[in-house]
Amino acid sequence: MDAKQLYEKLKPIQEAKGYLFNADMSYTMPLLENLLVNKERYGYMSCPCRLAIGTFEEDRDIVCPCVYRDPDVAEYGACFCALYVNKEWNEGKIEHKTVPERRPAEKVMKAMGLG
Ligand code: SF4
Repeated sequence: MDAKQLYEKLKPIQEAKGYLFNADMSYTMPLLENLLVNKERYGYMSCPCRLAIGTFEEDRDIVCPCVYRDPDVAEYGACFCALYVNKEWNEGKIEHKTVPERRPAEKVMKAMGLG
């Protein structure tokens, strides 16, 4: 599967839940490519803009769509990576803010080899 196929597969499923892909394809497609790289590397699609720990059990919170997407989109209109956004975000009706990391610091540290 390539990024375009992944896009076509996920788009209707996620749109039905109210989540849109970032309309900037020059941003979205590389993130989808990196999801596929992570699938190849780890066996699961861990978040393309976070370091993974490397085991499914420890990374299940950041298997895309991560458990942080719902609160992030609810609060900021976008997930941490801004891969998934809501309609207002895509239409520029809400400010595009940096989304703070919700993943617990211990897991971030462990993924960096510092845990
Ligand atoms: S932050 Fe966005 S791209 Fe990253 S795992 Fe969560 S939903 Fe996927």
